[in-house]
Amino acid sequence: MYAQVIVDIAHSQVDRIFEYSCKDGVPAGSRVKVPFGGRVVDGFIVGLSQASSFPAEKVKPVGFVYDEPPALVPECFSLMNELSERYRVPKAVCLRLFLPSEMRSGKVRELYKKLVKFTGAELIFSKAAKKQAEFYAFLRDAGQADYSSCCEKFGRGAVNAVTEKGGAELVKVKVNRSPSGFFQTEEAGRTLTPAQLSALESIRKDGRTVQLVHGVTGSGKTEIYLNVISSALAAGKTAVFLVPEISLTPQMFSQLRRRFGEKAAILHSGLSAGERFDEWWRLRTGEARIAIGARSAVFSPLENIGAIIMDEEHDGSYFSESAPRYSTLEVALLRAKHNGCKLILGSATPSVESYAKAVAGEYGLITLKERINGKPLPHVTMADMRKEVKRGNNTAFSSALRERLRDTLGQGNQAIIFLNRRGYSRSVVCQDCGYALRCENCDVALAYHSEEDCLKCHYCGARYRMPRACPECGGLHLRYGGTGTQRVVADLKHDFPSARILRMDNDAASGKEGHYKILKKFAERQADILVGTQMIAKGHDFPAVTLVGILDADMSLHFFDYRAGERTFQLVTQVAGRSGRAGEAGQVVLQTYSPENTVLRYAADYDYEGFFQNEIALRKATRFPPFSLICRVMVTAEEDGAALEALKGVYFGAAELQRLRPQKFIFLNKMHSPIKKIQGRVRYQVLMRLEDGELLPEIYALAVKFSSPKALVYVEENPVNLS
Ligand code: ADP
Ligand code: ZN
Repeated sequence: MYAQVIVDIAHSQVDRIFEYSCKDGVPAGSRVKVPFGGRVVDGFIVGLSQASSFPAEKVKPVGFVYDEPPALVPECFSLMNELSERYRVPKAVCLRLFLPSEMRSGKVRELYKKLVKFTGAELIFSKAAKKQAEFYAFLRDAGQADYSSCCEKFGRGAVNAVTEKGGAELVKVKVNRSPSGFFQTEEAGRTLTPAQLSALESIRKDGRTVQLVHGVTGSGKTEIYLNVISSALAAGKTAVFLVPEISLTPQMFSQLRRRFGEKAAILHSGLSAGERFDEWWRLRTGEARIAIGARSAVFSPLENIGAIIMDEEHDGSYFSESAPRYSTLEVALLRAKHNGCKLILGSATPSVESYAKAVAGEYGLITLKERINGKPLPHVTMADMRKEVKRGNNTAFSSALRERLRDTLGQGNQAIIFLNRRGYSRSVVCQDCGYALRCENCDVALAYHSEEDCLKCHYCGARYRMPRACPECGGLHLRYGGTGTQRVVADLKHDFPSARILRMDNDAASGKEGHYKILKKFAERQADILVGTQMIAKGHDFPAVTLVGILDADMSLHFFDYRAGERTFQLVTQVAGRSGRAGEAGQVVLQTYSPENTVLRYAADYDYEGFFQNEIALRKATRFPPFSLICRVMVTAEEDGAALEALKGVYFGAAELQRLRPQKFIFLNKMHSPIKKIQGRVRYQVLMRLEDGELLPEIYALAVKFSSPKALVYVEENPVNLS
C-alpha cells in the first residue's frame, strides 16, 4: 500500500502531498512518523492507494503509525482542502485545527490505572500470610478493585503475592479525566411551550440548511437547542453545540450534564490539558456524541453530524484571530452541508449580516417574542449624564441609579453593574503638561490598577510602577482619567458600606476556575452587587437580580468601526436581559451622554426590528457590509522599514487590481493602523472596501507574497476589531 502524507510543518514550501509505502490495513487519517529530509517528522495520512506514481526504490516506508483509531475523521480531508484554499494557509496548519494541541505536543498522554481482578482460583493461605488471606477474601467479594488502593490497604507484598499465586490478575484500564469529576444522570426534557414546539417544527420542516432563531433573552432558546440535539441522537447521529467561551458557565455545564450525561463532551480552555485530551478522545471514539465548546469545537472529530448549533451567533469570539482567521459560521456551514444537517443560529440580537440573510429568505427565520414565564422585559430608564454633570454630580452614578440601587438592596434583591472597562482608571494624565502615561511596547495609554497599585498595559500585559511625578515635566499632579471597574467597586463600598460586592473582569477572574467561583458566589447570594465587564453580559441566569445598571452605554458607540451601533445595541440588550428573569419585575438604568442616540433608543425599547431596519438602511446608503466587504491587510514588523516595504508591495498590488477591476473597489488606501504599535511591533494597513469577495483570492495571494520573516502580513475580512 502507499500512503499520501501531509507533513506537520507549517511552511508553504512543503505544503503538498508526499508519498510513502505502508502496511496494508493502515487507515487513512492516521498520524504517522515519516523520514523527511534527513529527519523524522510527524505527518498525517490523507489518502491511500494501491499503486505509486514513483519508482518503488524512491518511495520510503512510513516509520511509525500512532493512534488507534486514526486521529482524523475522513471529513477533515475535504475541509482541509477547502480551508487551505480559502484562507491561503498550508494544509498542515488546517489539519492542526482538528487535533487537540495536547496531542501534537506529545506532552499529554492517555491516563491508565491498574486494577486487580479476581480470577476465581481457589487459594489456601498459611497462618503467616494473614494479609494475603484478607486481600484474597476482599477481592473475592469485590470482584475487582483499584491496584494502588489495595496496596495501601493490604500491603504491596500481599497483593503481589496473591497475584503471583494466580488468585488475582492485573489489568490496565483507561481513565477519563472528566471535567466535572463525575457524570450526572440524564434527565428527561421539559414540557415544551407552544412557541418552542412550533419553533422545533419549523426547524424540522423547513428545507433550508441554516435556521436563525431570534428570541428575546429568556425565551427558552436553550431548550430548543437541547431538543434539536436529542432528536439528532435519537436518529443515531451526533451534534455540535457552539457557544462563546464566556457562556461556558457552570450553570450551562450542569444543565447539559443533567440532560445528556456521558454523551456530552465539553471542550474549553478552562479544562486541564489532560481533561481536554480525554474529552476529545471520547468524541473521536464515539463514546461521547455531543461536542460542546467555543469556536474551536467546530472542528470536533465527529462523524455523521445530525445538527450544529451556534448560540449567540452574533458574538465576536466566533472569528479566529490567528491564522487561519476563519469564520466559525463559514466552517459550520461547510460541515452542515457535508453532513446534510441543519445549522441553527440563535441570538436575542442577531448580527445584521445574519438577520439580513434571514429577511431575504436565505435562512429560515424563527421568532420568539416572549419570555418563558410571560414576564415582561425589564423596563429601561435612560439617565442623561450631561444633566448629572450640570447638577454637580461628578461620580459615575446617576441619581436614578443610586436611588434604585438603595431600593434593591433594601428589598434584599441583587444588582448587576456593568462597565466595559477593567482597572481603576483608563489612563493617568499629568495635569500640568497633559501627558498621558504610555506603554513602552505599545502605542496606548496605561490603565491604573488600584488592587496591585501599578499601571498595566491592556494590550501586551506589561506592568509599570506608578510614578510619583510626570516623566515628561516632573509635575506632581497626576490625575486618573476614566472610570474602571475597580473604581466602581471602591465608590460603591464608600456609598453602600454594608453591601457585599463582587467584581468580575479579566483581573479578578484569572486562573482556571476564577470566573466560575465568582459567579457561583453571586448565584448563592453571598453578595449583593456584581460589578463587571462584558464577561457578565451573557448567559447567566440569576433569579434574584432585579436591577441592572449600565454605567457608560456610549462607550462602544465611538469605536472606529462600522459595527459600533450594532455592538452597542447587542451589549445593552444582553446586559439588560440579566434583570428580572424570575419572580419580580426587573429594572434597568442606562446611563448615557447621548440619550437621543437612535441605537440606544431602540435598545431601551427592545426594538430589534426597528434597530435592524434603521441600521440596514444606513449600511445600504453608505455601502457598508453586508452591501460590501471590508478587507484589511495588516502589516506588522519590529522595524518600520520592513513594515513599510511590505506595505508598499501590498498596496501597489491592490492598486493594480483596482486598475484592472475598478468597479470592484469602493475604497482603497494605506495607512497607520489606529493603534500604531503593539508589543513592540509597528502596525500598518491597506484598507479596502470591496463590492464583494471575488478578488479575495488575489488579495490573500498578495499577503502571502509580501510576508517575510521580517514582516508579518495577513488578511482580515470584515474584522471584528479594527484597532
Ligand atoms: P434563552 O436561552 O432564550 O435566554 P433559556 O433557555 O435560558 O432562554 O430559558 C429561560 C428560562 O426558562 C430558563 O430558566 C429555563 O430553564 C426556563 N425554561 C425554558 N423552557 C422551559 C419550559 N418549556 N418550561 C419551563 N421552563 C422553561
Ligand atoms: Zn503594552
